[in-house]
Amino acid sequence: MTKKEKKVNNTNIETNEKMNKIISFCKRRGFVYPSSEIYGGFAAIYDYGPYGVELLNNIKRFWWKYMVQFTDNIIGLDSAIFMHPKIWEASGHVSGFSDPLAECKKCHFRFRVDTFLEEMGISVDEKMPLEQIENLFRKNINKIKCVKCGSNEFTEIKKFNLLVESNLGNFSSDFDKDPIYLRGETCQGIYVNYKNVLDSTRVKIPFGIAQIGKAFRNEITARQFIFRTREFEQMEMQYFVNPKDEMREYKKWKEYRWNYYLDMGIKEENLRWYKHENLVFYAKEAYDIEYNFPFGFKELEGIHARGNYDLSQHSKFSGQDLSYTDPITSKKFIPHVVESSVGVNRTFLALISEAYTEENIENDIRVVLKLKPELAPIKIAVFPLLKNKQELVDKALEIFNDLKKIYMCEFDDNGNIGKRYRRQDEIGTPYCLTIDFDTLEKNEITVRDRDTMKQEKIKIENLINYFKLKI
Ligand code: ATP
Repeated sequence: MTKKEKKVNNTNIETNEKMNKIISFCKRRGFVYPSSEIYGGFAAIYDYGPYGVELLNNIKRFWWKYMVQFTDNIIGLDSAIFMHPKIWEASGHVSGFSDPLAECKKCHFRFRVDTFLEEMGISVDEKMPLEQIENLFRKNINKIKCVKCGSNEFTEIKKFNLLVESNLGNFSSDFDKDPIYLRGETCQGIYVNYKNVLDSTRVKIPFGIAQIGKAFRNEITARQFIFRTREFEQMEMQYFVNPKDEMREYKKWKEYRWNYYLDMGIKEENLRWYKHENLVFYAKEAYDIEYNFPFGFKELEGIHARGNYDLSQHSKFSGQDLSYTDPITSKKFIPHVVESSVGVNRTFLALISEAYTEENIENDIRVVLKLKPELAPIKIAVFPLLKNKQELVDKALEIFNDLKKIYMCEFDDNGNIGKRYRRQDEIGTPYCLTIDFDTLEKNEITVRDRDTMKQEKIKIENLINYFKLKI
């Protein structure tokens, strides 16, 4: 084995180890469970447990705050998952939303060829024609083996459409020919409501519409835990601009979105830009923000300058005029779109990968989830020092009941204080409060910080102000 090969193998072991740790941690501590586990599981679908759902909600709240609350001209929307089937024709999804698929001739294992080649270090761009992918695949066939059975005989590569069909309303004759899809992305709901929003609110170009919601894709190789699943959630913002301002706004949004991740607590060295080289014909520029996942840098968010393709297509297919008249110049134009699109679940995985830390403390390993307090599932844990001293338990419950009106809190009286701290460290709780005899006598509470593990005494009457500054 050459030195280089050795290095690659070591890296693989390390990354797999980190990923395996994260997967088992997520299950053990109630963040993410495999779907339908008691029935043997359901591939590429996951459920979020009690702490997982808190983290998901906090991610969504954080995004909404950045995109809707902090901005002056972005408003929210919640469109339905089911939409008129023509929408997916207009958007190009029916004809073009597909991945290259090959099948092992021996064991019939199906896999996505572009990601397979990429894992071998062979770059395949999103828009590469099928013929070119087939050539690359055949050129490297000696190095390719089926991951299931080891054979290297495969079928021709086919395009596999990712839209998930449903049988909604198939008792009516309206949509006899067109299948009804579960939406493959949330932004189509934004485009088709663009006119409604213009007519029912006081927005003027430039303005944005933001939406969070589920999307469904028949991913061929849904792997890497919650990175790529068949049901997932997206947070998308479409910014409608005058064509002349598109690139200026695009630059602004790139910067805003980069800073958003830094503010979430992601280290800059774990982020990078990826420029799309082979753009679809209508796009002006497209970049992804990639995160350094345990399996390497991969797409977290796409930020695209999309021209007027989306509104023009929906105008054409629906027969509705979707142009905008500038109130000052009276000039008519179809707005161009700058898009920011990110997965909630991928953000979840990025945050857990970033925050999951093992520290060596006095010959013991402390697992601590160093999440920004705003994102932590539980903000404050309250402990009575002793379980069998009723006056301590009563006081702890009184404080817990007050704090939980403002923050997500947890009460724990089980085990020694050290163990209770460790349990909270693992799920990322930034502050633990211990109620002891000083609390009863001097009105003082011990507050322990997750990251520094330092403790300080705080007067009960100052608690709310203390946490206002911290969280
Ligand atoms: P990929 O190249 O990884 O398949 P994509 O370019 O098809 O992603 P978009 O259609 O741009 O992704 O979707 C926007 C965002 O939605 C992605 O950046 C990602 O965060 C998220 N996303 C897309 N597909 C999935 C999926 N199958 N599972 C989880 N998240 C997804």
